[in-house]
Amino acid sequence: MLDLRAQYASLASEIGAAIERLLASQHWILGAEGAALEKEIAHFSGARSGVGVASGTDALMLALHAAGVGPGDDVVVPAFTFIATASAVSALGARPIFADIESLTFAIDPTRLESRLTLKTKAIIAVHLFGHPSDMDSILETGKRRGIPIIEDCAQSIGASYRGRKTGSMGAFGCFSFYPTKNLGGYGDGGMILTNSEKDAYRLRCLRNHGQTDRYSSRERGWNSRLDEIQAAILRVKLHHLAEWTAARQKHALRYGNLLRDLPGIRAPEARPGYEHVYSVHTIRVEGGAERRERVQRHLASQGIASMIYYPLPLHLQPAYAALGVGRGELPESERAADEVLSLPMYAELTEDQIARVAAAVAEAARA
Ligand SMILES: *Cc1c(COP(=O)(O)O)cnc(C)c1O
Repeated sequence: MLDLRAQYASLASEIGAAIERLLASQHWILGAEGAALEKEIAHFSGARSGVGVASGTDALMLALHAAGVGPGDDVVVPAFTFIATASAVSALGARPIFADIESLTFAIDPTRLESRLTLKTKAIIAVHLFGHPSDMDSILETGKRRGIPIIEDCAQSIGASYRGRKTGSMGAFGCFSFYPTKNLGGYGDGGMILTNSEKDAYRLRCLRNHGQTDRYSSRERGWNSRLDEIQAAILRVKLHHLAEWTAARQKHALRYGNLLRDLPGIRAPEARPGYEHVYSVHTIRVEGGAERRERVQRHLASQGIASMIYYPLPLHLQPAYAALGVGRGELPESERAADEVLSLPMYAELTEDQIARVAAAVAEAARA
């Protein structure tokens, strides 16, 4: 799916030098590397401030808290996403309200969003799933009309843009993950929150460090959720290469798209006009349901080709959320996506030959 060793081989000396620098300084938490990375990611994404935290999940949790979400509140999230989008809501004692998605983009469907809002809704999380931006103008407009802040889950979308604006710069908060397999991945956990509000950035800096405004003085209850210096130093090296890696992913997606076009019952991902897709993963749809998809996946495996199902079960059908009482059939696009998606290998170092082999195997299976 991903060849992190190939990427490391091209970076080894730069990363080694960055780590040597830290070993010499012995400054591990909240230092110059983290502060520099915050500025660089904010600048890269067109937002005013960045606040480094311990993970993407923590980024969501702290952003939700800063947006005023707490026990008894509702937060709307798409039903088809990674579980962390909802578990960040649950961690604060709030309730995730699941909304259905659009079939083309896998993002929350703005036309069905309004019907999910109640008087208790305190935030909406828009997930730019697989690297394709959500329809932000419509979502922001709904939020504005109802006075509800929008939080962007950018864990899979660093560098993606919507009508010229980068993801993470449009909502009240943009939440990023640096989990090793993300488009910008560290060598451990990490995350960041972007915001255009200086005041919110200051509050988040306190919240991630036990609510401390000064040493041993806490204005409010906080967390220990800091991005450590070693991750920040590694991420700074990798950030220099991100644009070039993203361009390679986009080129690979184009190639895959040309090879998979016109196959019966196969739909390759595409970017909607005005949206820039960064292909965190390359997810096709195998139409006709989970059994046909399983046949395709088995055929790929028989040729030594990896594939993954992100995600096999929508959140409303997860045992963890059974108590919310949302049954099968209630969010049909999310359920159909869970039965049809299949992600193919995608990373910058992938070769044309490899893509051709994967596409040929998908074609054989699709025609069988
Ligand atoms: C990875 C991911 C997260 C969580 O990030 P972590 O750094 O693993 O906590 C949240 N949302 C989405 C959509 C993700 O893909």
